[in-house]
Formats: sequence, structure tokens, C-alpha cells
Amino acid sequence: MEIMVYSENEKLFKELVTAASHLNASRITSAVIGSKEDAEKAAKYTDKVLFVDSSELGEYKPKEYVEALCNIVKASDPQVLLVGGTHKGNALAAMLSVKLGEPSVTEVSDLKITEEGLMVLRSAFGGVAVAEVRVGKKLFTKVASPKIACVKPGFFAPAEESKNGEIEKISVDVKSSTEVLEIKKKETGAGLEDADVVVVAGRGVKKKEDLSLIEDLAKALGGVVGVTRPLSADLHWAPTWVGMSGIAVKPKLYVGVGVSGQIQHIAGIRNSKVIMAVNTDPNAPIFEHADYGIVGDLYQVVPKLIEMLKS
Ligand SMILES: Cc1cc2nc3c(=O)[nH]c(=O)nc-3n(C[C@H](O)[C@H](O)[C@H](O)COP(=O)(O)OP(=O)(O)OC[C@H]3O[C@@H](n4cnc5c(N)ncnc54)[C@H](O)[C@@H]3O)c2cc1C
Repeated sequence: MEIMVYSENEKLFKELVTAASHLNASRITSAVIGSKEDAEKAAKYTDKVLFVDSSELGEYKPKEYVEALCNIVKASDPQVLLVGGTHKGNALAAMLSVKLGEPSVTEVSDLKITEEGLMVLRSAFGGVAVAEVRVGKKLFTKVASPKIACVKPGFFAPAEESKNGEIEKISVDVKSSTEVLEIKKKETGAGLEDADVVVVAGRGVKKKEDLSLIEDLAKALGGVVGVTRPLSADLHWAPTWVGMSGIAVKPKLYVGVGVSGQIQHIAGIRNSKVIMAVNTDPNAPIFEHADYGIVGDLYQVVPKLIEMLKS
């Protein structure tokens, strides 16, 4: 059985190679859209490399890249295509799935081949559950139409160099229909991803001016401020939010102030070491996830906390 692996992220590419060897692939092929050097690097990990020179495609554009990936897949006959589950990888896999008429599944943390075909474990309900999913009906029913699985980073150890795979260049004749006019860096919100302390304001905070109270608490704790989605997406008090559809945080200390703790928010804070919450409602869901909880009005509790921290 041939398994093809594709990721634009080098570490994740190596993790995919390990995932493919766990599936007992008889041949592992890399799909590379990049430079000749990228193809040569990939050859050290897989039996074969099918490579499209990205300089022929120009700036990254999903339509052109998916065309290139499709050509690579058709030049081989993999039964399974493992794609690195980055934003780009997930998007390409979805488009490829439509092009090939074959199923694709994201958020995969483990895989196995059974009589039934490709079975995967994937996160469900924002990460609070794990679902076992069969990808497509029978495996091996069609050739050159692989089942596609987007594997999450960090679930397989990166493979070591062990091969000297053959490199084959694949040509693409892609007529670009889009032009990139400008690339803007996404606002990520004050280093939330890497902060040791994150204090998040929720809708319990009544006015934008009151965010200064949350900022003072964050300052006293040496941390940064984040908000829940309604404060960003609806009220536009901040450029981005914390949670499943926003930024996932993993601080040593997370403090949720006036945050109810809905599942989509919890999905983005579950890797925090210590979770603390301030909420007037003793039944707020966030208390189910909190290590420390204060039931009280934030307008009374937060100034007291700041005073205590300062003294
Ligand atoms: C597809 C999808 C994706 C989503 N992704 C995200 C996401 O990534 N991140 C996210 O945050 N949300 C996300 N949401 C929204 C999410 O479902 C919730 O609506 C949101 O998290 C609620 O925000 P909140 O806790 O600030 O507000 P609320 O749920 O309104 O909670 C406010 C809390 O403040 C408390 N409170 C009120 N007054 C005070 C006071 N004076 N002192 C103390 N406590 C007080 C209340 O008891 C209540 O618990 C998503 C929703 C969908 C449908």
C-alpha cells in the first residue's frame, strides 16, 4: 500500500512519515511543492518524491497549489494521503477532496487500517471528545483517489533520516486567475499564544472603558489581556479573541473574568496549567474547568485582587 505525505511544515512532514510507517505502508511517497532543496530533503525520509517547483507557481495561492497537488496525486496511486493539519494543509485537503470526489477528514490524532478501510481518531465538539471515524467506504476501491486525512501536529514523533528516495519532477500548467496585491500580517493580539499569564475579559465586563480594570489585573500578574469572542467579533473591543475559532492559549495561569466558559472558549484554554475564574453565577460552566474560582461581582473582586497583588 502506498501512502503519500504532504506538508509545507518541515517538522509536521516528518511526523506524517512516522504516521505513514505506523500504517505499514509498503511505499511512502512525499508530495513536495517547493524548491529542489526541499525535494532533496524530503528524499531523505521517503521512498519517492514527486515534486512541483513552486517558483513556477509564484506566490502561494490555494487554487494553483491544489492543482499542483492534484497533479502529484494523479502521477502516483496512493491509497491514503496524509496532509499536515495546518490552516493551509486543511484548506488544500478540502479543495483536493472536492476535486477528486474522495473523502477528507481533519483534526486526526491517530490512524489505522482495518477490514473496513481507513479508521481515524479525531477531535470532536471543540476538543472535548474523540470520535472514531471511518474515512470513506472500502479502501482500495479506486486507484489514484486516496482517502485524505489531515493529521494534527504533535501526535507522532518526527521520523529520522533513513532513505534516499528517487525524485521525480511533475510539471503543472496552471494559468493563474488571481493576483496577490498585498500580504498583511494577521493581528495576533499582544503575544497571547506565548504568554505565561493570560487574563481574559468576558461579557461580564459591561463597558469598553472597564477593560482598563482587566488590564490592571493583567499588569499586576505580569500577563496580557485577551477577550472572548463576543467582545471582539460583536463589540469590536479587541482585534481577536481567545478560543476554538480564535487564538488557543497555553499559559501557566489563565484568569477568566466575567467569562461563562462555553465549550468554544474552553477549547482554546484547555492547555492552561492553572485556570482561575471570577463570575457572579456559581453555576457558570467555567467553574467546571477551573482550579480556583471566585463567585462574585468582578467590579468588586478585581480591584481587591489588584490591591492584594500590589501589596
Ligand atoms: C462556531 C462558534 C465558534 C465560537 N468560537 C469562540 C471562541 O473561539 N472563543 C469564544 O470566546 N467564544 C466563541 N464562541 C462563542 C461562545 O459560544 C460564547 O458565546 C462566548 O464564549 C461567550 O462569551 P462570554 O463568556 O464573554 O459571554 P457570556 O456567555 O454572556 O457570559 C458572561 C458571563 O459573565 C458573568 N457575569 C455577568 N456580570 C458579571 C459581573 N459583574 N461579574 C462577574 N461575572 C459576571 C455571567 O454570569 C456570565 O457567566 C463561538 C461560537 C460559535 C457558534
